[in-house]
Amino acid sequence: TPRTPSISVRCCPGRPATRGGGTLAHGGPGGEPGGVPHDARGAPLGSALDQARLGAALARLAATPVRRLLARPELPAGRALAARGLPQRTVEGFLRPLLSALLCDPGLTTSSRCADLALHAFARGRLCLPEGGADALPELLAAALPPGTVRTGVRVTAVAADRVTTAEHGELTCRGVLLATDARAAAELLPGLRVPAFHPVTVVHHAVPEPPLAEPALLLDADRRGPVAHTAVVSHVDPTRAPAGRVLVSSTVLGPPPDDLDRTVRAHLAALYGTPTDRWELLAAHHTREAVPAMPPPHDLRRPVRLLSGLYVCGDHRDTSTVQGALHSGRRAAHAALADLGVAPALKESPLPTAA
Ligand SMILES: Cc1cc2nc3c(=O)[nH]c(=O)nc-3n(C[C@H](O)[C@H](O)[C@H](O)COP(=O)(O)OP(=O)(O)OC[C@H]3O[C@@H](n4cnc5c(N)ncnc54)[C@H](O)[C@@H]3O)c2cc1C
Repeated sequence: TPRTPSISVRCCPGRPATRGGGTLAHGGPGGEPGGVPHDARGAPLGSALDQARLGAALARLAATPVRRLLARPELPAGRALAARGLPQRTVEGFLRPLLSALLCDPGLTTSSRCADLALHAFARGRLCLPEGGADALPELLAAALPPGTVRTGVRVTAVAADRVTTAEHGELTCRGVLLATDARAAAELLPGLRVPAFHPVTVVHHAVPEPPLAEPALLLDADRRGPVAHTAVVSHVDPTRAPAGRVLVSSTVLGPPPDDLDRTVRAHLAALYGTPTDRWELLAAHHTREAVPAMPPPHDLRRPVRLLSGLYVCGDHRDTSTVQGALHSGRRAAHAALADLGVAPALKESPLPTAA
């Protein structure tokens, strides 16, 4: 797997970053469960009792088996949060912005079970970035296969259990097809598959002369004072992403982006980091309207991946709307295909999916 350095969470509940904010010290992969938020100067965010309750709640969540999480009543995540018995300032100042970031869902309409899975994964210390960018994972998977197995840049125009039609190479015959596209493309190729609603995501990248923050922290805006939901000096976590001689700050806007994206994001980042952003160079702004399939309750975490013998479908729209969900559905579909072909899989299927 790619190197996956951990990052921590810092939130600024309605005050300039220079005057405070909270840092969630949290273990790396396989490390201790997440800690509790602290003021940027080291003082705890909220009272000592709030801290203890949040720490205990996260530790309890980290230790709860996934099966038990999935047996809990299912509500919209925002409503379930309010019923967790934690102080409102902890929920509003920390958990709500954190969950919005993990789920790409600013309204927290996501199923509380999916939200619990996301928080569970976070509390167990699995917040990370793939070294070299999001492409690293599929590239590593492809590299493990014999040369020439994977062809990219080929557009599929039709599929059936025994053939694939492509725009570039015409028709290819086969013993089975596993369709691994996004939900909309899957439904276009296999009419009848459900197209979910989506959460839009916009990511804005800036090249910055000096790091505006010393530590590798994910900065959350708990007060929603601008369009940025969360931001990080990404090159502190993965230096390979930085432009030469500068650092890379990547910021995420959830929901529909404002018309004057660069100006409003820049102004918001100045407030969040407590530093002028006029000299920051805008490298790119990527808007994906259908970025993340929505998971309102009731959410089926295991949509069927076997449509008929020889025809399978996988992707984040079959499990949870995350990389893990997509990978897990891929494994389920591969197992179904192997079973139909009478081949025993080399790896056992894991019992249940995780999220985030
Ligand atoms: C901006 C953004 C940020 C995100 N952040 C996170 C995050 O922090 N954590 C997380 O877990 N998830 C995150 N996600 C979600 C995550 O990226 C997706 O859940 C995951 O990539 C889904 O994988 P997939 O294989 O199902 O689909 P995709 O990654 O969408 O891959 C589908 C592939 O199918 C190809 N395709 C489509 N149609 C055709 C066709 N006709 N012919 C040939 N190929 C076709 C596409 O080109 C694409 O390569 C984020 C998504 C976005 C957009």
